[in-house]
This record gives sequence, structure tokens and C-alpha cells, in this order.
Amino acid sequence: MAQISLTFPDGNSRDYPAGVTAAEVAQSISPSLAKKAISADVNGNHWDLSWPIQHDSKIAIHSTKDEAPSIELIRHAFAHVMARAVQEIWPDVKVTIGPVTEHGWFYDFDREEPFTPEDLGAIEKKMKEIIAKSEPIRNEVWDRAQARAYYQERGETFKIELLDRIPEDAPIRMYWHGDWQDLCRGPHLQHMGQLPADAFKLMGVSGAYWFGDVSRPQLQRISGVGFRNRAELKAHLTMLEEAAKRDHRKLGREMDLYHLQEEAPGMVFWHPNGWTVYRALEDYMRRRQNAAGYREIRTPQVVDRVLWEKSGHWEAYRENMFIVEVDEEGAKEKRTNALKPMNCPCHVQVYNQGLKSYRDLPLRLAEFGSCHRYESSGSMHGLMRVRGFVQDDAHIFCTEDQLEEECADFITLLASVYEDLGFEKFDIKLSTRPETRVGSDEIWDKAEAALEGAIRKAGADYTVDPGEGAFYGPKLDFKLTDAIGREWQCGTFQADFNLPDRLDAEFVNEKGDKARPVMLHRAILGSFERFLGILIENHAGRLPLWLAPRQVVVASIVSDADDYVNEVVATLRRAGIRAEADTRNEKINYKVREHSVGKVPVILAIGGREVEERTVSLRRLGENRSEVLGLDAVVETLKDEATPPDLRRDA
Ligand SMILES: [Zn+2]
Ligand SMILES: [Zn+2]
Repeated sequence: MAQISLTFPDGNSRDYPAGVTAAEVAQSISPSLAKKAISADVNGNHWDLSWPIQHDSKIAIHSTKDEAPSIELIRHAFAHVMARAVQEIWPDVKVTIGPVTEHGWFYDFDREEPFTPEDLGAIEKKMKEIIAKSEPIRNEVWDRAQARAYYQERGETFKIELLDRIPEDAPIRMYWHGDWQDLCRGPHLQHMGQLPADAFKLMGVSGAYWFGDVSRPQLQRISGVGFRNRAELKAHLTMLEEAAKRDHRKLGREMDLYHLQEEAPGMVFWHPNGWTVYRALEDYMRRRQNAAGYREIRTPQVVDRVLWEKSGHWEAYRENMFIVEVDEEGAKEKRTNALKPMNCPCHVQVYNQGLKSYRDLPLRLAEFGSCHRYESSGSMHGLMRVRGFVQDDAHIFCTEDQLEEECADFITLLASVYEDLGFEKFDIKLSTRPETRVGSDEIWDKAEAALEGAIRKAGADYTVDPGEGAFYGPKLDFKLTDAIGREWQCGTFQADFNLPDRLDAEFVNEKGDKARPVMLHRAILGSFERFLGILIENHAGRLPLWLAPRQVVVASIVSDADDYVNEVVATLRRAGIRAEADTRNEKINYKVREHSVGKVPVILAIGGREVEERTVSLRRLGENRSEVLGLDAVVETLKDEATPPDLRRDA
């Protein structure tokens, strides 16, 4: 029998007969490894332990300790077990597809009757019974006709459609656990006993269409979350509870920040409180960018399609653009414009005014650019996904040699902004050249090296996503982690070798020749709308004083205190603090409760004694005790706390 050589992660190789399975390889290393093995990595492919290996390969055996493969296999197996449980309880239900999701899986079912919450309980119970049987998982490769006949006999019409979607040259894998069968690409765990029966939960039922096709009858999607152990599940459920408490839509109402309405879907009506936070953030970003050498500009909202055709957006992005047609005087046809979905082409127009020399570079043009993009109504979500938004956008025009330094400076600025806004951790992902791209290999080599060099210089952690760059250049994505461990992709830094070419941007280099600048697209927050949503949820509405819309409420305890209350408010306002009076004829506890719901960070209560002694009784949000302090001292303290972090550093 032919021998093949398998190379292990430690660099050692061993010979095996061709066709050896990964399970047999694990067994040859040690029986204990064979027992706890779940799958393998063969030449970078996630490999079922039962699949044969035919050629010389690199191999690594995965056990339950390997987080990424085990979590994937576990969620995948939960999906199968759930589908089996449903068919064991309701044999008439047809199964469709059941992919793994960010925290679990879903499976879409074809069933007349809607699934009820009681049904979910019954399914969970059945799933536990199935897992307890610890049945082995086995698979066979079938030919297409045999598989088709099998599903036809069982009336599994969706599986036949799936079969037709499998490419001609791909194997048709039939998987079984016990008697239950599913069509699946694999790989799978060795047996159901490797599935943690106490680490999953079914989360709910929703409507779904077969591959998103609304012309087909609606299916029912049951989704679940699954983890490697009970502790991880509990942590996730706690996080969800926490997230619900922090939901920016709920806090947005309680703090009276904004609203949305049907007449302008996905476009925010900012209320005075919300707009105050928005402007505090915008002012802060403006100061930071000015200090970092950016020059702010403003470009039009409504731009003729001609420019979008030149930039390539009309062809590639038309479906997401809002079109505005105008009757120009004397014109036979309406003029077609689009609301800008991004600012880049307009920034090149500003750059193109007047001949640029290498001495003008780098030129950093910033705009709080108001953009509109059509998003389907189903995808919109509070402030997190909207149709009208403002980017903290900027484009840097520079030479290839300046790329690394510009990138390093950007990372420094971004890190400092995130820290000021209360985020301690962020990750960077570097996406490199895709197969289809513009620009020479030489410029890609240089740009990728520049971006990677800049990250190293900043001492930041990063991962590389090969082939995932845009066709026009490599990019960095910045993902921050919020207070409850959720990740949000906000910042971006993208090199672009394409747009300067399409829109004819140039500069005169040191030799006196015309050359193309590199264009860098970059944002730190992404959009103000979404970032404010993230910020509100991160802080659970308790924004740091400098960002809080209502910073201080001065509340009277007795009506005799009204004059002094107004005097305190006036003093605070003179010091630049957003203060307001509450002299309503209500009990102080009632006032405190109400302003706590509104997340006012500081309440100064004033009764007879405070009036007499010219003091205030200071109470902070979330604390039960209050502290009596002299008015001057309180003004000084609050003034300092209300100073934005960048100005405090400068002071
Ligand atoms: Zn499967
Ligand atoms: Zn751009």
C-alpha cells in the first residue's frame, strides 16, 4: 500500500498508509488524544476525523481545548440535534438549512403550525435526550442520484434543492447520528457525547424565507445559542440581560435624546438632549483633528450622476443611493442627481483645485460628512443602522513614502480618542490584496508593508486577513470592545490606488514630473449616529460628565429655596456647566428618582440649611448618599469634571 508522510505542528513527520483517517492518526499518537479529539486541520482545511487522507499533508489534531474548531463543531452539532428533535416530535416537519451564527445557530423549518414557547421547551428537552444517547456520528459519500432518490422517498424537497446547489465536483456527504440523517458538508464531532448538554438554550422563533426568496412560503426559524460549557452559556445570557438594560433605544427614550418616525425611516430626529451630546462629541473630534493637522471642509449633499459615474459609484453602488431628479430651467430632460452615499469623490474635487506640489503633501481633508444610503427596512436598528448619518470622514492625499507615517499617526490618534471615550480595548485587522485588484504588485507590497509597519510601531495587536482587502488597496479595520465584551467595528484606514486615477488627482513630484498621490480613506468613529448608540450602551446611559446632555440639576427641597436655586444655576452656567433648575412643588425623592431615570449625573439639592450656609447637597447618579459642600468648591470640582479630556490635558 502507498505510504504518505504527515507532518505535525512540532515539525516531526511520520509515514502512514494512504487513506489513513485523522482518527487513526490520533490513535497512533495516544489513546487519550484519540478519545478527546474532535476534528483535525489538514493543510488548512477543517477535517472530519473519519475522512481519509490520501496525500502528504500537514496535520494538527484538534481537541475540545482548541476553542475555534470546538465551538464551531459544537454549534453545528446543536443545529443537527435540534432538527432531529423537531422531526422526532413532529415527523411531518420538513427540514431546510441550519447554519452556525455568531453565538449559536439557527435552523429553518417548514411547518404549518407556528412553534410556541412551550414547543421550544419540548424541543430542548428532546435535544437533551438525544445528546444523552452519545450516538456515534458517521458519514458516507454518495452519488447524486442515490441521494436524490433517498430524499425524494422521504419527501424532503428542500434537501433536493440543496443537493442541486452542490457544485458538480464537490462530494455529497450524508451524515447520520443514530437513525437520523442530514445532508452536510461536515466536519462533525466523533459522537454526540462530545456535545455539552447543559451549554445551550433556544432563543426564539422568527419568520424566514428559503434563501431570502420572498416569493416562497415563509419558513419558521428557530435560533439557539451554544457554548463549550455551562459557565460560558451563563456568561452570555448575563451579557444579553445587561445588553437589554443598556439598549440605546430604551435609554434614548428615558434620556429624551432622539426619535425616529415613519415619514423618514432610518433618519434621526435629534432632540435638544441628544443634539447636545452629539455636538459635544463633534466639537471634541474637531479639536482632535485640528490638532492632528487636518483641515476641515464641507462638500455638497446633492451631486450630479456624472461625478458618480466617473467615481464608479453609479455602477457599483447605485442600489444604495437616493436619487434626486430636478427640472432645470430650459432643459428638456430632468437632471439626475444623487444624495452622496460617501464623501470621497467630493474630496478629490477639492484636492483638484489648483496644481499641487509634493510640498503640499500630505494634505489631510476632513469633513463631518452627511451621507445617505438606502438600507432595507428590516436591517435598520435604532441608531445602529440608519439611512442618514454623518461620518467623521477624512481623506489624506500623500506620497507612497508618507503612507507609513500617516498610518502610524492615525493609529495613535484613534487609540487616544477611544481611550478618552471610555473604551479600553481595540483590535486591528489588516486585510491584504484580493485576487481581483488594481495597482502593481510593487505598490501593494509597499502599502501592505507600510500598514503593517505602522501597526508594529504603535505596538498594537493585530490579525491579518489575507485576500480580504478592497480591490483598490489594503485596509485596516479597528474593532473596539465595549464594557460588556461586545465588539464593534468602528474605525477604518484604507489605502486607495484607484480613485485618484479615476478622478485624475495629481501632484508635481520632486523631479518636476506629474504623479498620482495615494488617497487614504479613514474614520475613527465611523458614523456619529452609530457611535453614539455604542457610547450610550457602553456607559449604560451614564455618560462621563463632559458628554452628559444635562450635567447638573439644582433641585429645591423647600419653596423658600427658589431664589438660591436660581443663583446656583446661574453660577454653574457662567462656569460653562449645563445646569438647570427644578423648583417644582414635588418631594425631593420624587425629583431625584425622575432625574436618575433621565441619567442626570449630578443633582444638587437645596433646602433651608443650604440657603442659610450657602452650600449645596451633592448627590451623584447611582449613589445613595449625598455630601454637603460649599458652593465655590462644587463649582470648581464640576467645572473640572465637565472639561473634555483633551482640554484637561492641555490645561
Ligand atoms: Zn453537519
Ligand atoms: Zn473615502
